[in-house]
Amino acid sequence: MKTVSLVGSTGSIGTQAAEVIAGAPDRYRVVALGAATSVDALARQARELRPERVALADASRAAELAAALPAGVELLAGPEALAEIATLADVVVNGVVGFAGLPVTLAALCSGRRLALANKESLIAGGPVVQAARQTPGAEIIPVDSEHCAVHQCLRALLGEKDMSALPHPPAMPVRRIVLTASGGPFRGRHKRSLAEVTVADALAHPTWKMGPKITVDSSTLMNKGLEVIEAHELFGVGYDAIDVVVHPQSVVHSMVETTDGATLAQLSLPDMRLPIGYALAYPDRLDTPFGVIDWSRLGSLDFEEPDREAFPCLDLAYSAGRQGGAAPAWLNGANEVAVAAFLDGRIRWVDIPAVISEALDDYNASVPGTVADVLDADLAGRDRALSAVERRSSALR
Ligand code: MG
Repeated sequence: MKTVSLVGSTGSIGTQAAEVIAGAPDRYRVVALGAATSVDALARQARELRPERVALADASRAAELAAALPAGVELLAGPEALAEIATLADVVVNGVVGFAGLPVTLAALCSGRRLALANKESLIAGGPVVQAARQTPGAEIIPVDSEHCAVHQCLRALLGEKDMSALPHPPAMPVRRIVLTASGGPFRGRHKRSLAEVTVADALAHPTWKMGPKITVDSSTLMNKGLEVIEAHELFGVGYDAIDVVVHPQSVVHSMVETTDGATLAQLSLPDMRLPIGYALAYPDRLDTPFGVIDWSRLGSLDFEEPDREAFPCLDLAYSAGRQGGAAPAWLNGANEVAVAAFLDGRIRWVDIPAVISEALDDYNASVPGTVADVLDADLAGRDRALSAVERRSSALR
């Protein structure tokens, strides 16, 4: 029986993880749940899953949650609470949204836990600091992001189990490149000119994946794919020139690994996050029951095309920040979070998102982060520059 801590338990990843666990009650037991502010959903989950502890980041609502929890469940509240429950289980699922997931990632790794990582922002922004924490004995990252889960499975097939623990510096990996697939989002095939007036509802209408709003907007700009390029670099130790992106609208091929002799390994499955979640929980085993299987007789064609880098400039902004390294990914990520929030609030247009990030990156001047404080500084500076760029644009819109 593996114990599991679900951090960000009320979000899209957290609720799907709870479903996966409910399907294998003899293998997994949830010992801790945590969320930022969703008191009602958290109380409901606590009544269903009966964890030992529940964490709420928003301390101002602790009394309200305490009143709704079943007897005997310990409540932790405050900004440190989510990181606290990330030290308590065999597997920690980090499904927190955005940069706020960094303390959870670090707490899980520093306490030598398996981190089932859905929160890509913590790895991207905190790169050098997270890599150091990853060296803690017992610590490992199993990616829950579907593309990276696919690459993990392909590399595992190539390298064998024992080498997976040595990532991101495995011995003599016979890999020529990693190819990440992108659905292309709701605006695939649209010309740059036609994207000036798209609405929030348009951006949230993802064609293949059901996800939270932040990642869905990132998906529409291709920033999600750009962040995933950095994530792949951090996870697998592969250089940026050896990471490519191809648009694949069906979201059935979840990513590919090309070997030095020109063979390609790919992982295919239906677009359902419960597979990567179950993979990260069960690794090195596999879950016994699938969440849907491909019907080859009805699948039809699988299409692949080049991403449109002019209509979706966020992809190259991310490559550029990744290649700069140091704190540039943290700066980029902070700026993106501000730009996406401003778009969702109706303060800027969709086409302003890359412009805001690009302006923020023009001011990049941080050094390589050695501590969490350095990462926080870079994140704040990126946010600060992006906020100024948003202000200039939203006053022009008024
Ligand atoms: Mg993904």
